[in-house]
Amino acid sequence: MNSQTTFSFEIFPPRRDENISNLSQILEDLKALKPNFISVTFGAGGSVNSKHTLEIANLVQNTHKIPSIVHLPCIHLSRERALEILKECKEKGLYSILALRGDVCEGAQKSRDFSYASDLVTLIKKQGEFEIYAACYPEKHNESKNFVEDIENLKIKVDCGVDKLITQMFFNNEDFYKFKEYCALKGISVPILAGIMPIINKKQILKISSLCGAKIPPKFMKILEKYEDNPRALEDAGIAYAIDQIVDLIASGVSGIHLYTMNKSRAAKKIYEATSYLLKET
Ligand code: FAD
Repeated sequence: MNSQTTFSFEIFPPRRDENISNLSQILEDLKALKPNFISVTFGAGGSVNSKHTLEIANLVQNTHKIPSIVHLPCIHLSRERALEILKECKEKGLYSILALRGDVCEGAQKSRDFSYASDLVTLIKKQGEFEIYAACYPEKHNESKNFVEDIENLKIKVDCGVDKLITQMFFNNEDFYKFKEYCALKGISVPILAGIMPIINKKQILKISSLCGAKIPPKFMKILEKYEDNPRALEDAGIAYAIDQIVDLIASGVSGIHLYTMNKSRAAKKIYEATSYLLKET
């Protein structure tokens, strides 16, 4: 895609091994939308499906020929294990990593080597060759007391060697624009890709937003309430809302749109059809 606004997707390893083969069809559908890359999540606690992250990133990049980014949460990793994973990434030609802290999983041993994502960024940077992405939060991270503290920590992380940031999902563009201003004031100048989640299921979005702290604006709450028992109408409304957000973001010069696909291609396809000329125009 000849564009300054990148267009990319997030997928996750399916919960059941047998569903990995279904991913190939989804990847073919997503490939038709000419994404700049597809990122693959990784469960922080080393959940069963996280063992598939590299296998899937390999499938994305080397079979489907779409550049892939490997998510890597470090809160339960040893330095040695992190280095092993990075070595495996290199062997597979996977040179883009989204360096994350992750959330503490009950029962899993906390890392002695990593407290924050910035510790992992430092380690990856030392290995050379990797392009390093990191996470950021337009509504601030839910453990931070205030924005000032969160942006200061973000600046430390970026200065350790981050090339690009990807945001947590947000539903009010004004939060993103305010966040970008705070970043600029703090001297954070790396590209910030906007994480957009097309909402197609009420229960799912309420759960996700309570976990990650993304606020649902009243305008969108109305849609959720009106169409909660009509899945197709809710899907249409959720996609229309995401398109509206994306059009405004592109017009405001956003560096990239990163869609949380939830391993479904239909919403991504509709969004691409509605915005592809805008993405090419910028
Ligand atoms: P950090 O950057 O380490 O920040 C965590 C908290 O610590 C923040 O409140 C920050 O302000 C604070 N902090 C940072 N540095 C310092 C410091 N030096 N001193 C004091 N406080 C500090 N999770 C997964 O498990 N797997 C995934 O695949 C995954 N993918 C994600 C993709 C994106 C785009 C995003 C936005 C999040 C993703 N997450 C994933 C969730 C993420 O792991 C959690 O949000 C986690 O709570 C924070 O991770 P982080 O990398 O942002 O942490």
